[in-house]
Amino acid sequence: MIELVKTLVIIIIVLLFLFLWAWPISFPLLIYYIYKKNKNKKYFKSTVINKDRYQNNGFFNNIQDTYVDINDYKLEWFGTNDIDVLKRHFSSLFIDFERALNNLDYNTLYNICTPSLYELYHSDLTVNLKLGNKKIIDNISIEKMVIYNTTKNDEEQKVYIMLEMKSNSYTMNSSGKITSGSPMLPVKEEFIAVFVKKLKKANEGQLRCPNCGATVTSTKCEYCNTEFKQYEFKIDTIRKLV
Ligand SMILES: [Zn+2]
Repeated sequence: MIELVKTLVIIIIVLLFLFLWAWPISFPLLIYYIYKKNKNKKYFKSTVINKDRYQNNGFFNNIQDTYVDINDYKLEWFGTNDIDVLKRHFSSLFIDFERALNNLDYNTLYNICTPSLYELYHSDLTVNLKLGNKKIIDNISIEKMVIYNTTKNDEEQKVYIMLEMKSNSYTMNSSGKITSGSPMLPVKEEFIAVFVKKLKKANEGQLRCPNCGATVTSTKCEYCNTEFKQYEFKIDTIRKLV
């Protein structure tokens, strides 16, 4: 055992000697190595932290563990000090959205999405409807959620969320055949969603009754008396992480 330690010490001393002896080669190599390592770290930081600049979703596969929740200072912007309350709020919002999307509930979608996102889904869903495809989603649950950033200016507050949703979702064609997904096998999907809240009342969009579709001024429809939810935070963008 002592022999082994001795040998190791000798090897280390020899290597150190060689390193110093060949300094014109070894020092530049060492500096290059440190530089390269730092550069990789910086690259990783810039791509992960500024991930929303990137359109290539697949690139961010499996990096969700690097997301961290907002700090207490930013949490106060929501008028709560309990991050779990906030997560439950955004979870139920997201589930409402997913249900509305799959049930082709245009009026709820109208109330829950920003106008630009609504337009996007509206045309998308119309195409699906024409093709006779029906999307079905059951047993939705939010398995993981990280509220990783929020920003605020005079006009609006934005909230950036990464979440993992588990559901049984599948698509049926016009003859009732399942074309994708499975009713038996739950799937997990990851999303990055940006929610936005208008801070000036004048910026708020109109409400629509989810039952009769009438444009209304309160959350109780003047025409059919349906009561419904008004969404303070609306979904602005959604990206699916592959
Ligand atoms: Zn109504």
